[in-house]
Amino acid sequence: MSRKPVIAGNWKMNLTHLEGIQLVQNLAYHLDSTDFDKADVAVIPPFTSLRSIQTLIEGDRLDLTLGAQSCHHETSGAYTGEISPTMLSALGCSWVIAGHSERRTLFGETDEVVNAKVKAIIAAEMTPILCVGETLEQREAGEAEAVIRGQVTGSLAGVSAEQVADLVIAYEPIWAIGTGRTALPSDADGGCATVRATVAELHGTETAEAVRIQYGGSVKPGNVAELMSQPNIDGALVGGASLNADDFAVIARFH
Ligand code: PEP
Repeated sequence: MSRKPVIAGNWKMNLTHLEGIQLVQNLAYHLDSTDFDKADVAVIPPFTSLRSIQTLIEGDRLDLTLGAQSCHHETSGAYTGEISPTMLSALGCSWVIAGHSERRTLFGETDEVVNAKVKAIIAAEMTPILCVGETLEQREAGEAEAVIRGQVTGSLAGVSAEQVADLVIAYEPIWAIGTGRTALPSDADGGCATVRATVAELHGTETAEAVRIQYGGSVKPGNVAELMSQPNIDGALVGGASLNADDFAVIARFH
């Protein structure tokens, strides 16, 4: 089965909305419609930039898609400081990251919390980008596979086969995120294969063949082509390199 790759740039807590507009304008200059035929390309800025970038995308009829880095699982209510899936959907977001390792580690998000977010994102008719991945300690202890399996299973509890087939899962070994230490293509593919095998066990091979699995962890212009040529890798979740329009454009045009 051929799966359309998803290249998504997670800006994390970087760039003001003015800087964000400039980056997207530069990116639009580099990419054309043939690039978007070959891959879904998304920018995932901080909440504060979503409205300006939505306006830019709509006004210039760009094929870029927009995503958010997190959300609350409730639709509305007394949750000071939080943003709901409904609000993100109204801002034109197609994607929302759930369970990024920084949210899991720094903000205590468990598989249960991530699971509630995944369900809420789907209910608001957006696509979750569910992140999973092991720490260096877990990898060295030979626990990587069990950690990946546990996170996929826990984060997708109660999500139907049809819904899982449509989502994106990002395998991001924590030791490769923001460290400049990219996983070997074979290791990156191995992690993605574990995600796919877990989905197959949960929902069958048809679902596992349909779900798109990204690799994330120090993806750069110089390593993207080899990573993307691996059989189980269907795109990239890019942090640092997505803050530079030239670099992100090269990554988005890896094909
Ligand atoms: C990320 O934050 O998801 C990520 C992969 O970051 P980087 O590309 O900087 O390693």
